[in-house]
Amino acid sequence: MISTSDSPGPSMDAIPTRYGDTTFRSRLEADWAATLDNNHIRWAYEPETITLDSGTLYVPDFWLPELGTWIEVKGPGIPRTEKTKELAHTRTCRCETACTCRWPGGEFVLIGRPSLASDRTETGHRPRSGYANWETPFGPSTYFVTCPACTRAQWTTLKRPWRCRACHASLEREQVHRSVDRFVRFIETTTGAGSLFAMPDLGEPFTDEELGLTDSPENDLP
Ligand SMILES: [Zn+2]
Ligand SMILES: [Zn+2]
Repeated sequence: MISTSDSPGPSMDAIPTRYGDTTFRSRLEADWAATLDNNHIRWAYEPETITLDSGTLYVPDFWLPELGTWIEVKGPGIPRTEKTKELAHTRTCRCETACTCRWPGGEFVLIGRPSLASDRTETGHRPRSGYANWETPFGPSTYFVTCPACTRAQWTTLKRPWRCRACHASLEREQVHRSVDRFVRFIETTTGAGSLFAMPDLGEPFTDEELGLTDSPENDLP
């Protein structure tokens, strides 16, 4: 069975969204691309079909070629993460003593979540943009850090040794940030219909379905 990357499911984020030269499956993926750009992190969208140990084919959303990192974008709700977990397990370091992997600790897998919302505005509108939110397939202990040697922003765990994934410089003295620290701005790629949401006292924002912006969400179901 050919399976592509897990879609975020039927939601306002499941609208194919153009950003730069790429059409993403969802607005959330496009927002993640813009957030990576904002941090000068190089990315490739769905560059590779990976055969997992189980034989399952999997197309993760983003590969960060300078950081040896995969990002699977997961929308709200209870997303399926089995393939993402298996990818992390397949690509992690298996060095018996000192790690000699091209990427310290092996390839790294991150789950990109919808943003942590910034505070409500005076109109009561909750903007979609806020701060980047992420986790690993195994838990939340992933940190954002900037390498002092090569200046590359990246995600890492606290598993030692703490080294830059790109240039292997030490990160021991650097300040690291969790997603809940609200340090990494999440970049919103589209405004469009979003401007309607800023009107006060309308209750819940319109769904994209109500606005006629969605294509059939059934297509996203397994
Ligand atoms: Zn290793
Ligand atoms: Zn570096």
